[in-house]
Amino acid sequence: MKRNYFHASFTPKSLNFRTLNFLFGYIMIEISVLGSGSRGNSTWISNGTDSFLIDAGFCGRELDERLTKIGHNLKDVQAVVITHDHGDHINGAGVVARNANAPVWIHARNLNKLKKRLGKRVEFQYFTPLMPFTIGAITITPFETPHDATHSSGFIIEQDGAKIGYATDVGFPEPSVIAALKKCDILVIESNHDEELLRTGPYPPILQARISSDEGHLSNRQTAEILKAVAHEHLKQVILIHLSGENNNPSLALAEAKMALEGFSTEIVLSTQVEPTARITL
Ligand SMILES: [Zn+2]
Ligand SMILES: [Zn+2]
Repeated sequence: MKRNYFHASFTPKSLNFRTLNFLFGYIMIEISVLGSGSRGNSTWISNGTDSFLIDAGFCGRELDERLTKIGHNLKDVQAVVITHDHGDHINGAGVVARNANAPVWIHARNLNKLKKRLGKRVEFQYFTPLMPFTIGAITITPFETPHDATHSSGFIIEQDGAKIGYATDVGFPEPSVIAALKKCDILVIESNHDEELLRTGPYPPILQARISSDEGHLSNRQTAEILKAVAHEHLKQVILIHLSGENNNPSLALAEAKMALEGFSTEIVLSTQVEPTARITL
């Protein structure tokens, strides 16, 4: 006979992530984009036991405050995995690594510049594109992304069949990036700018050219192109990240993504620069 674990006062509403894991042995992955945009990027990923950040582009205090908002804190961070060496992705990585005593995973060929930027007393671990590595029970497979940084990377995060794709700061919908992002349950993807708003916006021509180049950022249209190519019936959520404050409008990004995912029941979540998204679990 199936055991009923529920006490009368123990409503589904009170079920949290750790409780579900404990009671039912569910392996779940939890994700929250703590903030995303040109003023800082960081994403929390955890299976309830193993936890890490992708990027740490906010100062330590700011990251701690944002983690507190989703029920965690800096000490819960067991590793920081870095996409690339631009300040909006690494500014707080050294502080987090020292405070949480957490290693920082970087591209194996990205040593000197990052080591200098992150300061002393940081333990580095090195990854190579397409070579999976693990943080506890979570497997992470890096893949290269076209961007004007030193060895920029995206990641596939997997545990027990659950798959999250993570792609930020991607110059254009490169076929290898699209191939990497297929069959995900959750996709975290840049939707940086609206092409018309960028063209008519406040940025000088040289910066406009950099952003729209093949080593810059994905426009809403390019993100939609990727979404169309990777959409499938089990794609539960798409989290749009790195929206430009000057050259985009959340409603435009959302509309393009919605059109690309027409016919699918995928939920689209907009991240913001100022606060964490809700925790999304798989
Ligand atoms: Zn960048
Ligand atoms: Zn960036």
